[in-house]
Amino acid sequence: MSNDRDRHDGDGDHELRVSKIRDGTVIDHVRGGQALNVLAILGIDGSEGEELSIGVNVPSDRLARKDIVKVEDRELSQDEVDVLSLIAPDATINIVRDYDVVEKHRVERPDVVEGVLSCPNPGCITTGNEPVTSRFTVLEDGVRCSYCETIVRDEIASLIDT
Ligand SMILES: [Zn+2]
Repeated sequence: MSNDRDRHDGDGDHELRVSKIRDGTVIDHVRGGQALNVLAILGIDGSEGEELSIGVNVPSDRLARKDIVKVEDRELSQDEVDVLSLIAPDATINIVRDYDVVEKHRVERPDVVEGVLSCPNPGCITTGNEPVTSRFTVLEDGVRCSYCETIVRDEIASLIDT
């Protein structure tokens, strides 16, 4: 990496942080305080020996405070990236190989998310004993259960199926 590039993109600090892992994914510009929810939505808890680095409420140019999550030796799939948009709409996903950022993605809101969130309605077919995979339609300002039509606008992170 050249210093030249750092000067031009005006985000040299960001590049430095990203370059610290060898291979894996850096999820940057996560809204402050959401890092642990990001890990939960990805089903990452460290129990499989994943090497994680988490920065919480780090000063940021773009957001007042941001979180940053680094996962070594794992590249997020597009599905995982899409789901992240529900709780981290401003996130930037950096795929790192051999200390270089080889891909950079912004998250995009998916139309539906399946098998990620649990419906808060105890009478919903997806929360019973039948093996029905949860399915939510993503709205402008929340999500709607495709089975019982329950709409959740706040606390989406609390529905994450862990
Ligand atoms: Zn439901």
